Amino acid sequence: KEPWLGNPANTIEILQKYGFRFQKKFGQNFLIDPHVLEKIVRAADISEDDCVMEIGPGIGTLTQYLARYAREVFAVEIDKNLIPILTEDTLKDWDNVTVINEDCLKVDMKQLVEEHNGGKPVKVVANLPYYITTPILMELLEKHVPFESITVMVQKEVADRMQAGPGSKDYGALSLAVQYYTVPEIMANVPPNCFIPRPNVGSAVIRLKGRTEENRVQVQDEHLMFRLIRASFAQRRKTLMNGLRNSQELDFSKEEIEKVIQDCGLPAAVRGEALTLEQFAQLADHFAGL
Ligand code: SAM
Repeated sequence: KEPWLGNPANTIEILQKYGFRFQKKFGQNFLIDPHVLEKIVRAADISEDDCVMEIGPGIGTLTQYLARYAREVFAVEIDKNLIPILTEDTLKDWDNVTVINEDCLKVDMKQLVEEHNGGKPVKVVANLPYYITTPILMELLEKHVPFESITVMVQKEVADRMQAGPGSKDYGALSLAVQYYTVPEIMANVPPNCFIPRPNVGSAVIRLKGRTEENRVQVQDEHLMFRLIRASFAQRRKTLMNGLRNSQELDFSKEEIEKVIQDCGLPAAVRGEALTLEQFAQLADHFAGL
């Protein structure tokens, strides 16, 4: 069964048939470009061995492509008005798809992976609702939802922040969180005219490959590391020293901070934004050892 929904004419036909009204509060921008849909499936490297979790299927456009190439797909959609369109129309000819009417930030996604793939890592693929991109990604990463990779359409600017390294204006706490858990790679840039309605911003497809034992960044206390990262970026223009001293989340003395910065071989006036992930891990290990 071949996907048929990914073009403007068929999308508009479905929307009119059901009198569907876009809800701004759900970040609904549906894809209408078959080339982009093919690109997403290729970027995610979907094969018949894969179980895919989709977040926000909309009217099922990307879901048809995923169902065509994957073994199994389960899709979490918050908008109850879309459920009958999905189950009784656009996805009814695919028997390897399950639609779940839930808020992805409230449902236990780890439990869903347990139920649908016996807890084995899934591939997450989505054209994300832009108003909650970061909370969704942080939920997947911090709750340790088992995934092999996450391939998502996001706002271009957010994709740049995820991939940025020290020295870039886009580098920050999001870059470090994403890069601690995964290896990110921007796979495609996508202009607003590939969606209906058109978003006000450019978009990009980014793939986050889960890190394995071999390429994991070692740190004794990851919570301490993330407190240090937040403190370092809370006041960007300040030195690392001042950032760490002014944090409400940390309780180290001036002398302790000076010693650690020196022991890590960093200049006394270094700024947090100059540190790599490995250097933050080293810093956290030194503070943990005090
Ligand atoms: N996948 C479709 C496509 O590419 O055409 C739709 C993508 S649209 C950008 C985002 C979808 O996520 C919408 O269908 C929206 O209703 C859904 N959504 C928004 N917030 C959600 C949430 N908290 N949990 C699950 N789905 C959500």
